[in-house]
Order: sequence, then C-alpha cells, then structure tokens
Amino acid sequence: MQVLPKRVAVTLLGVLVLATLLWLASDEAERGTAAVEGAVPARSEYPKPRIEYDPIPYDRKRKRQMANYSNRHYGKSEWRLEPRAIVLHYTAGSTYESAFNTFASNAPALGEKPGVCAQFVVDKDGTIYQLTRLYVRCRHTIGLNHVSVGIEMVQEDAGGGAATSDVILDRRAQARSAVALAAWLKSRYRIPMRDLVGHATANDSRLFKDLEGWRNDHGDWPKGPLKVFRKRVSRQLKGSRDRPAREPRGRVVFGESAEGRPLIARRSGDPGSGRTALIVGEIHGDEEAGLPVVRRLRRSPGPAANVDLWTVGTVNPDGHAADRRTNARGVDLNRNFSVDWDGSEPEGSGYYPGPEPFSEPESRGLRDLIRRIDPDVTIYYHQPWGAVLAPCQGAVQMHRLYSRVSGLGIDRCRGEDLPGTATKWQRERNEIAFVVELGDDRLGDAGVRRHARAAARVAAGR
Ligand SMILES: [Zn+2]
Ligand SMILES: [Zn+2]
Repeated sequence: MQVLPKRVAVTLLGVLVLATLLWLASDEAERGTAAVEGAVPARSEYPKPRIEYDPIPYDRKRKRQMANYSNRHYGKSEWRLEPRAIVLHYTAGSTYESAFNTFASNAPALGEKPGVCAQFVVDKDGTIYQLTRLYVRCRHTIGLNHVSVGIEMVQEDAGGGAATSDVILDRRAQARSAVALAAWLKSRYRIPMRDLVGHATANDSRLFKDLEGWRNDHGDWPKGPLKVFRKRVSRQLKGSRDRPAREPRGRVVFGESAEGRPLIARRSGDPGSGRTALIVGEIHGDEEAGLPVVRRLRRSPGPAANVDLWTVGTVNPDGHAADRRTNARGVDLNRNFSVDWDGSEPEGSGYYPGPEPFSEPESRGLRDLIRRIDPDVTIYYHQPWGAVLAPCQGAVQMHRLYSRVSGLGIDRCRGEDLPGTATKWQRERNEIAFVVELGDDRLGDAGVRRHARAAARVAAGR
C-alpha cells in the first residue's frame, strides 16, 4: 500500500465525510417522502407510439408566413404552437407520398401563404409520420391552427365525410395507430376530450377563432365517426392506466386543505379489480348527512367488496370543522372546477368560485386523485334537495339503480346549469359522476343502510 502524503489524506478524509453527510441527507430526504405514505403520484403518461420523423421543409420564410397568417386570423404574430386541441382529418388522396408532397410544396391555399400541412399523417398500413416539430403551427383547420395538432389519415373519398371516416375506423392498423397517437397527444398535453374534434366539427369548437370570418366547409370526421374515435381513445387511456394493484389498501392522503388538514381517502374492496368507484361523503362543509353512509359502506361494502373502492369522508375538512359551506378561503369547492367555470359570483356569497379554476388546494387534491384512479363511477353527497340528480341527456342507468335501491326519486336536468362543478368536470372526462342530494335532516339508521346499499350497487355497476 502506498503511503499518501498527509495533506492529501486529510483532504480525502474531508471529501469522504462530506460525501457521507450528503448521502445521509439524501437518505433522510427519501425517507421523508416515503413517510407521506400513499401520497398520490403523478399520473403516468400514455406511452408514445412509434413515429417516423419525415420532416417537410419549414424554413424561416415559412415560419414568417405562418406568423403573419396567425396575425391576420388570430390577432397575434406567432408560428409556435402550444397544443390545446387535436383535429382529425383524412387526406382525400390514396397515398402518403401525395399528402407529403402537398404539405411540402408550400403552395398558397385560399390565396394565402403558408401552404397547408399537418403535424402528423397516418398511412393506411398504420405507419405514423411526423412532418413538423410539435411546437410548430400548421395550416390544417381554419380557426384552430393556433391551438391544435392536425392528424391526417390517408384515405381517398369513399362517398362523403361519414362514409370515408368509417372506412378508416374499419381499417384496423390505421385506426389503431391514429387512436394511439391521439391518446398519447391527449395525455401528454392534458387535452380534454371535447377538444379532440373532427375537421367537420371544428367550427363548433369552443376554441374556434377567425378574425377574418373564415369558416371550414370540410366534411372529414363528422359527429358520428368522431364519437366512435373518441370512445376508442378513452378506452385506450383507461386500459393503459397502471392499475396500482401494489399500492396498499387503507388510508391514502391525497392533499392538504387551506388550513393544513389532510385530505384523506380510504381504499378498500379489491384493488386488483377492473372497476374503480369513488364515493365522496361531503364537499360542502355544512352538508354532512352523507358521512354516515360512507362510514357504513366502509364497514359493510356488500357487492362493493369486489370493486377497487375509494371512499372520501369530506373533501372540505376546514369547512366541516367550521360547519360552513365553503373552504377556509371562502370558496365554494364545487364551483372551483374548470368546466364552465364562471367567475361572476362575488366573494362572500357562499357560491364564490375562487379567483380561477382549481385555485384551491382541496379541489386540486380531488382533481389529482381522480386523474390518478380514473374512477368508472363517482357519487357525491350533498343536501338538501332530496333527489338523485341525473343529466338531461345521456345514460342514466346508474342513477336509476341508485334511486331504485335507496328509494330516493330521480330529478333529471336539475343542477345541470351550475358552473364549475366536480361532476361536470368528470363527465368531460367521459366518466359517470353524479350527485345524490339527501334531504334536510340526518338519515336514520335504516336510511343510512339503504343509501350505503345503493352506493355499493352503483360501485359494483349492478
Ligand atoms: Zn381536413
Ligand atoms: Zn352541496
């Protein structure tokens, strides 16, 4: 062994001590994280499908043309894109090459430059080609080029928009790739389902904007086929969610209230089950009649024992402690969700929606929990209308089931126009979520049992 000069040895010792301290510190940090047992991890992204990068020329000149086009039509000179929507198309040609050549040519369209393009083209054999960077705008849909990614699918006209789109839906390789691509984009950019549109439905998009009064007159991907496509995307996303079977049953902390109280969910039933249900006892802090129902359901789950069952007592522990509708910051949490959020209700009214959607830690916690577990069905308890609330349109089997077992009547359309509610936000995610409005008074024992049984049946879906 070689003897080290003393100074070097001392320095080495110092380094060693420092490294040990750092190691201890990092270990401490890790243990600190682990101590928040069952905290909700970030939602995993849908896997990126295999994509062939085959870029069209998109030089500075074309970028300038795109920025000028944006200025004329959207009021801002910009060629960069932050995707907030996806638009489906078909090429009306029979080959990928012809689509590529059209997009590469940069020939004026409707008298304006740059030429048309789309970020993606999906060939008939299922190959996904990417033609521009994702942060670059393409002209593919009037009114939406500033916010959307375009997906073209190779297909010649087969007798109108619906028939032609159906041909693609029936072509397994191509449809599967297009759906996987849309699912990946949707999850990567957190795009709501309603902003996945067809060229034919683009004029109706909430994001549509054209300062020159231009409108689309294309028939590709009208409502019917679009609905099928969306359903497949949603199924893809649900199928891929990593079912956290390893995650423990029991107490899960999913956030913290404004005053620092933990937001607590309890996971029971069968975590490996393919079906997930979420039951929320209280969101308005002075409406506590649902709490004994949740407790009863945890004790005697009945058919919900076979479901991945998530129950939350209150999402609003501060409001509950103060016997107040809102959270500690005076915000109505059930007006604080992002769909149809409406900021006009004043502070102090009890219905104050907060300064912006998801401004509150409680609504954010619930949002993240829902994103994480993707419940097939969710029930929220409120008071005092005394009815199972069902939407004006769409399937109401679960609402009927609850009504039948609990004996509480159904009220259709009631509460539908309320802004920023949790149920609206979840329905936007294609989830079944509804409100059970209990009456004014506490439920008696028999009532608690009836409602717990109804919730268990809905959780189990039968
Ligand atoms: Zn189109
Ligand atoms: Zn309420």
